[in-house]
Amino acid sequence: MARALVDIRVLQREYLLAITRALTAELDLHDLLRLILQASVELVSGRAGMIVLVEPSTESMRVAAVYGIPPHLVDHFSPLLKDLPYREGQENEVIPEMTRRLNEVALKADLGLTKALRLPMISGKEVIGLIYVFQSGTYVFMDDAAKLLQSFAEQAAIAVKNARLYQEINQEKLRLGAILEQSADGVMILNPALHITVFNRALSQMTGWQPGDAIGRHHDEIVRWRSLRTDSDLPQALKNGWPLPGAAHLYVEGDFQRSENAYYQPVQDRVSLGITYAPLMDGNGRMTNIIANVRDLTRYREEEALQKTFISVVSHELKTPVSIIKGYAGTLRRQDAHWSPEILDESLAVIEEEADNLTNLIDNLLEASRLQAGTFNLEIHEDINLAKLTASAAKKFGTQSGKHHISVEFPQDFPTIYGDERRLGQVLNNLLSNAIKYSPDGGNIIISGTAHSEHVTLSVRDNGIGIPKHEQHRIFQKFSRLDNALSRKTEGTGLGLFLTKAIIEAHNGRIWFTNNTDGPGTTFTFSLPRN
Ligand code: ATP
Ligand code: MG
Repeated sequence: MARALVDIRVLQREYLLAITRALTAELDLHDLLRLILQASVELVSGRAGMIVLVEPSTESMRVAAVYGIPPHLVDHFSPLLKDLPYREGQENEVIPEMTRRLNEVALKADLGLTKALRLPMISGKEVIGLIYVFQSGTYVFMDDAAKLLQSFAEQAAIAVKNARLYQEINQEKLRLGAILEQSADGVMILNPALHITVFNRALSQMTGWQPGDAIGRHHDEIVRWRSLRTDSDLPQALKNGWPLPGAAHLYVEGDFQRSENAYYQPVQDRVSLGITYAPLMDGNGRMTNIIANVRDLTRYREEEALQKTFISVVSHELKTPVSIIKGYAGTLRRQDAHWSPEILDESLAVIEEEADNLTNLIDNLLEASRLQAGTFNLEIHEDINLAKLTASAAKKFGTQSGKHHISVEFPQDFPTIYGDERRLGQVLNNLLSNAIKYSPDGGNIIISGTAHSEHVTLSVRDNGIGIPKHEQHRIFQKFSRLDNALSRKTEGTGLGLFLTKAIIEAHNGRIWFTNNTDGPGTTFTFSLPRN
């Protein structure tokens, strides 16, 4: 059985070459270990072999490859998987404990294995696995068998280490990818030619570009500005020499121009974005990537615009009634004039009405700020009589307007409901004041109630100017007034319907409106649960 030493050296070299080739051929770890094991067993004319690896996470051992052992017998080798400390220079020694275990295995597996050679696979200073080569019957290993196999064990260790590194990198890549994908901020990575290589989901939502469509395109194809709030955008900054060594980030903000072929268009047509570009440099000061972090500032900008509207509307709306009241009061106080009782009465009525307007406005503002602060609470009582509430609102408005005829139509048995009386009064005030304000030529205003088994409805119908269809979604928004001649002429903050809707919804009700089909004007209807 003894082969000439030269033969063995040649054979060893051939095996090593094959293994090296396999190492670079991206074979999977299992195939590679099998190849190494086969080479090891054949080189020393063994009968069978087995590679055992230490699992890094659990430190337990598992069989990673077998050769010459039928699969159903592999389990019998478990005694060899139990800890058997390895000491350097032990390869050739007969370790009594190992011999004992091997005998145990031989007995169970009935393979006639009698001797084992054990080689450690070492990576760094750690034993990461063991190669076993078994001999049967009376055959013995040649003296330098362990030495001959040493290079195979080294190759196996390298293969395992590479595979584990590869796996780690892959996992890290997956993890980073998931973080980018889940980030609430938009993230985009550009290569030095400004082509997009990463484009996450949040950014896709902001821009309307599908990641698959955006990746590979040039940055300027995707990021187009309608208007800029910062001095320059990325192309301009690059022209001006950005990034300088030790570069600062570049911040660009403005209104984003959505692409016509974006896969979806959001409700609001204005999207404000803020993008921070961070250059990634290599050791030679060359830019390898740009990482762009994108924030959606639309909500923030809207809030800002709303604040501005708020201030201008409020200052205007507060000023008007105050100056009317002041004007009338000043006139009435003149010492040199004697006012007829009719003029006196008329003037005082105007003062009273304007004071009411002021109170209403202040109430509305307070309610709106309560809604915003989240301290808007209803004071629910159980027997609210909507018919009575409506009658008293109608009476109040009836005396204010000579041009309108207000009628109230409720069935006799209209039920009482649960609700906040003061707030529901506010709702009626708002709807009635609108009905009057927006029917400048006068006409009939009909308020009618209907009872259903679970809920009641109340509608306010006017013969006014109506509401254009395309404006319908706007009128319940905060501070929104329709842009028509009448809105410009009449007073109002655009809070009335916003609050009305909030109050009705706080009662678990609904509010909507329709333009009348049998004549001009609008009918606003709300429904409230009976309990
Ligand atoms: P405020 O109620 O705060 O004094 P406002 O009446 O202008 O101000 P809303 O009651 O919220 O505000 O109404 C919003 C807008 O909807 C109005 O400016 C008006 O253009 C339109 N609108 C409301 N009610 C009617 C209606 N009955 N007919 C026609 N347009 C209406
Ligand atoms: Mg109003």
